[in-house]
Amino acid sequence: MKPAIYFDELEGDVLQCHLCPNRCIIRPGETGICKARKNVKGMLYSLNYGELTSIGTDPIEKKPLYHFYPGTMIFSVGSWGCNLSCDFCQNWEISKGRPRIVQRVIPHQLIEIARSEGTPGLAFTYNEPTVSFEFVLDTSRAAAKEGIYSVLITNGYIEQEPLKLLVQSISAMNIDLKGWNDEFYAKELGASKKHVLDTIEFVLSAGVHVEITTLIIPGKNDSLDEMREEAKWLASLSRDIPLHITRYFPNYKYTIPPTDVKTLNELHNVAKEHLNYVYIGNVPSEDLNTTYCPDCGTSLIKRRGFDVEIANLTEESRCSNCGKEIPVIL
Ligand code: SF4
Repeated sequence: MKPAIYFDELEGDVLQCHLCPNRCIIRPGETGICKARKNVKGMLYSLNYGELTSIGTDPIEKKPLYHFYPGTMIFSVGSWGCNLSCDFCQNWEISKGRPRIVQRVIPHQLIEIARSEGTPGLAFTYNEPTVSFEFVLDTSRAAAKEGIYSVLITNGYIEQEPLKLLVQSISAMNIDLKGWNDEFYAKELGASKKHVLDTIEFVLSAGVHVEITTLIIPGKNDSLDEMREEAKWLASLSRDIPLHITRYFPNYKYTIPPTDVKTLNELHNVAKEHLNYVYIGNVPSEDLNTTYCPDCGTSLIKRRGFDVEIANLTEESRCSNCGKEIPVIL
């Protein structure tokens, strides 16, 4: 166990964690909603510090990050725990609590493994990484000193104060914006969308590379009007934010059938009215996974599955046909 940061002491050894907007009040012997932070005799501890449940070297497109070193591999790790309560969780075996088997590492061991894998970066993914705040912070700081970049695949549900500290050693994030419906956020996730929007705004202003993912669940968050509002809001920050609209498959407690591909195409078309780069995930479509120049329509990066072909893009990330600057980090 590692002493946690970001909590207040209330009366009689009762603590309030303020790492995320849940702001759990935690009595001695209890854990917060994420199950990863525990009050032990009036002190808050991170229970999942250095505990890994998933390790892999993945194409960076799998995160998904399409505009950040496309075509490269990234060493990826996951721990356990999550601060949202989605009944459609695609990784529920590790998000809903501590699995029986975990591997323990210290930050430098993880960096050594990443180095031996020969990848330039490290991704904290699979479960919600911000509930391993202390480990992610220690590891990403140490990795940055070694010239290894770190990325987060996150639900963005974190308070601003810890976020300000974390972004100093994070180069890119894919943030799950789970639709535009406030009621869906409140009822199905136990969360408030506003905090996720605050995170997106803040990390963009901090200069972190940001891409957004919205998993579309039939009947829950598949309204064209809501997608229009989401895309408009993202465009108000920047039309260049890549948006990944991904197909849902039944998992955990959800038995709703998979999202109709026609619906995804319609949502894509609506989002494209406002955003320059919109992609469809979990569907084998080369066209809807290709990066096109928003000015002249030239195909710049083709993706077939995780096979990536960069063409018509200069080393300075400009369209080689019309010269437009393309927001892709090469
Ligand atoms: S990080 Fe965990 S313990 Fe802390 S407020 Fe969020 S859910 Fe509660």
